[in-house]
Amino acid sequence: MADILIIGAGVTGCAVARVLSRYEANITVIDRGADIAEGASKANSGIVHAGFDAKPGTLKAKLNVDGAKMYPALCEELGVPYSQPGALVIGFTEEDRATLENLVRQAELNDVPGCRLVEREEILKMEPNTNPEVLCALYAPTSGLTSPYEMTFALADHAAVNGVKFELGEEVQGVAKGSDGKWHVTTSKGERVCDILVNCAGVGSANIHNMMNSETLQIIDRRGQYYLMDRMAKLPFTMTMFQCPTKMGKGVLVSPTVHGNLLLGPSAEDIPDELDTSTTADGLKFVLDKSRLTWPQASPRGTITNFSGIRAHEAKGDFVIGAVKDQENAYETVGIESPGLSAAPAIGEMLGTQIAEEMGLAKKAEIVPAIKRRKPFHEMNTEERAAAVAENPLYGNLVCRCEVVTEAEIRDAIRRPVGATTIDGVKRRTRAGMGRCQGGFCSPRVAEILCEELGISMLEVTKCGGESKLLVSSIHDAMKKEGC
Ligand SMILES: Cc1cc2nc3c(=O)[nH]c(=O)nc-3n(C[C@H](O)[C@H](O)[C@H](O)COP(=O)(O)OP(=O)(O)OC[C@H]3O[C@@H](n4cnc5c(N)ncnc54)[C@H](O)[C@@H]3O)c2cc1C
Repeated sequence: MADILIIGAGVTGCAVARVLSRYEANITVIDRGADIAEGASKANSGIVHAGFDAKPGTLKAKLNVDGAKMYPALCEELGVPYSQPGALVIGFTEEDRATLENLVRQAELNDVPGCRLVEREEILKMEPNTNPEVLCALYAPTSGLTSPYEMTFALADHAAVNGVKFELGEEVQGVAKGSDGKWHVTTSKGERVCDILVNCAGVGSANIHNMMNSETLQIIDRRGQYYLMDRMAKLPFTMTMFQCPTKMGKGVLVSPTVHGNLLLGPSAEDIPDELDTSTTADGLKFVLDKSRLTWPQASPRGTITNFSGIRAHEAKGDFVIGAVKDQENAYETVGIESPGLSAAPAIGEMLGTQIAEEMGLAKKAEIVPAIKRRKPFHEMNTEERAAAVAENPLYGNLVCRCEVVTEAEIRDAIRRPVGATTIDGVKRRTRAGMGRCQGGFCSPRVAEILCEELGISMLEVTKCGGESKLLVSSIHDAMKKEGC
């Protein structure tokens, strides 16, 4: 059986792994992060784009539209949240109107259903909190919302139950073809040898491509910063509110999230360090000022966190997906910036199937279906809650009060096929720590549960791997050492 090594456990690598798990092969996914979805797949707008924005004829356009069509059924199958509230792209000037008319034409060419131009009166009826100076907008009824990391976890879990291994905290440092015809991959933990190499390394994907090919690619690291607002009794907008796109991207949006928070952002700044996910006063000011153009009442009050993600913008602009030129048994996805989350299911099908066909992989006789995830406790009605507690009393222990997450759900998250091993891993799988107090109250209890489930000590618990330890030493041990 062929050994396949996939580099990168973001939404792209996990989507490809899930498709390949339908075939006879030994598949391993490695990632330098302490968890899956530690790159762009954890920090983006979570929009399943309708597909009007990408240039017709590009891979971005095709895979965006194909992927968006797959989302409702895939989310249902994998138990990932999804909704389809639609979107408006608003304009204020005649120049914006020309841009929006062009987007409507693009929507037709890209085969995106239902897009049309709407005027001020209709916009204000649809979304009364929009800046009244708005002139016109593109209305896209099929624009959707999802949870990007929950999609990535679900894809990984489904791949894992079908035999894919996930090895985390391992960075690829070198790639070379050996005299045995196999790929020899040098990593931070040693050497791995495989028959087929698949590069899905996000911001690191061009570096890995350039280790295999003299026709180099270049990733420009483009950071986007956000405000995440607390859930409100009534959100000011029901749809995703975009502004006219620029050459730097889709612009700043004001949007509900699939979990009912409000998101403002992202900025777009080219930065020198592919790992620099800091937020800056200037970046956040830009986001707030731009958001006020859509929503004049936008204010930092109600912010529960700020974060940023880094887009892997390939200098020529389109996704690069397929076999690595002039190399045998090597495949890649490079430059998977937005709409990469929307496109991921289609990228997985396209590249996974190409690899299987070209490498002559046999289809497995049986594929294990995705594990149906239980409804989160916070979504259950009183009867469902009572039944859950009767079945497992740990549903009666509330750990995260802001997001109503129980001990049973936290233990489940750690026990998933690719389970949580860090505080952030638990947070993204369960929402414990995602609420107003941002883990202030529940983190110590989450840490205790991690210790119990993983058999580690409190001193080994990290927020997100590496040196992000919660506790640096034990006062009790130190005092004992001092003879106190
Ligand atoms: C600000 C922002 C907003 C966005 N908004 C949207 C949106 O609303 N809708 C949408 O469709 N798309 C959106 N996107 C794009 C989307 O997030 C990405 O296209 C998608 O997440 C890319 O997934 P990926 O798996 O290719 O990359 P990643 O998620 O970055 O995964 C790549 C993985 O490779 C690993 N890696 C890198 N180098 C190495 C190495 N040398 N060794 C080992 N591992 C390595 C990284 O740790 C990482 O986990 C947005 C992106 C950003 C940054």
